[in-house]
Amino acid sequence: MNRILVVGGGIMGTSVGLQLARAGHHVTIIERGVPGAEASSAAAGMLAPQMEAQADGPGLTLGLKSRELYPAWVTQLATASGVDPLYVPSGALQLAFDAEQRQALEAQYAWQRARGLDVALLSGDEARRLEPALSPAVEAALHLPREAQVDPSRLMRALTIAASRAGCTFTSGLVRGLVERSGRCVGVDLDGQHLQADTVVLAAGAWTPLVGGAGVSGETIRPMRGQMAELDPKLPLHRCLLKSPLGYLVPRQDGRVIAGSTMEFAGFDKSVTVEGLAKLLSMAQRVVPALATAPVTGMWSGLRPWTQDTKPIIGFGHLAGLILATGHFRNGILLAPVTALLVEQLLTGTPPAVDLVPFRADRFATARA
Ligand SMILES: Cc1cc2nc3c(=O)[nH]c(=O)nc-3n(C[C@H](O)[C@H](O)[C@H](O)COP(=O)(O)OP(=O)(O)OC[C@H]3O[C@@H](n4cnc5c(N)ncnc54)[C@H](O)[C@@H]3O)c2cc1C
Repeated sequence: MNRILVVGGGIMGTSVGLQLARAGHHVTIIERGVPGAEASSAAAGMLAPQMEAQADGPGLTLGLKSRELYPAWVTQLATASGVDPLYVPSGALQLAFDAEQRQALEAQYAWQRARGLDVALLSGDEARRLEPALSPAVEAALHLPREAQVDPSRLMRALTIAASRAGCTFTSGLVRGLVERSGRCVGVDLDGQHLQADTVVLAAGAWTPLVGGAGVSGETIRPMRGQMAELDPKLPLHRCLLKSPLGYLVPRQDGRVIAGSTMEFAGFDKSVTVEGLAKLLSMAQRVVPALATAPVTGMWSGLRPWTQDTKPIIGFGHLAGLILATGHFRNGILLAPVTALLVEQLLTGTPPAVDLVPFRADRFATARA
């Protein structure tokens, strides 16, 4: 049994902690605020690797593996915690409003078909038959029936309860830095106190470079702000996730719609701005005109852990005894189950479920050299 310290109580830290506690390790999760209160509960909860991928490659492979793990993972979580994370295999429609956008969808359709993925190219009218509330201005759409969604706040609640019941200890405080002895990470400095560990898992999201001795520069991971709005038309207007080039709409089962999201480098500022909100609201109306009369019932923002190549870092750090599970950028909710599995496989020396070379932490240092 290993003594494991996990730095960060977001979805990454908690999912990894739960996985390792179930495998019999002694796990402590250290969180400076409230577990899950940062990017992980700000998220829309889309589980949409096909919609997110710009091209075929390792990022898509990782996302598809995690999407495949999701149904069993959430069922286990609901059983262990008593909280249903509201997983819905809603499918997604990616929308085009003009000829240029339609060409981009056609190209995406071609490479996704070549990879053997489930995808259909629809005309505007075919898309409206599936989702009658869609704007008449939609010219074409990709239908991605395997994409899904989850409610991130409920998921975080389920995860923290399940992790705690599996034996994880949650500790409050700020990890200032890692403690190193002879090239090995032997623990962390928690508010000036040295906590010892056999392995430290760094899962501090956008704040990872601020952990002293982490070996991750502020160029490698940066906070990217995403603003969100919640609309409540009362009656459900659509069932699929809808994505346009200007943003997305995520329909919750109770009729609420989450409109997202901006992509801004604004440091650690989590303001919701006039400009950001205006963009989201005009996008929402353009995609589903009936949303024009819906009350706006919420607005918030969160900080995505952006990386230089937009892929996560999952692998050993620059010190023995250090594992990184961070930099999940726009897809950390999707990638939680596969990341937890991969960290356990790294720890036990089991062959990884997915090739980890593209996600190694030292790839950025190599690129700089
Ligand atoms: C607006 C928005 C929409 C999104 N939509 C989606 C989506 O639809 N689908 C999807 O898959 N992903 C989505 N994401 C991305 C996803 O939310 C993130 O990738 C994911 O939450 C990252 O999880 P994390 O645990 O690494 O980070 P976080 O949730 O930010 O957690 C990191 C935690 O570490 C703690 N911490 C940091 N430093 C220290 C320290 N020194 N000591 C102690 N604790 C520390 C922080 O307090 C924080 O709680 C979205 C993100 C945003 C902002």
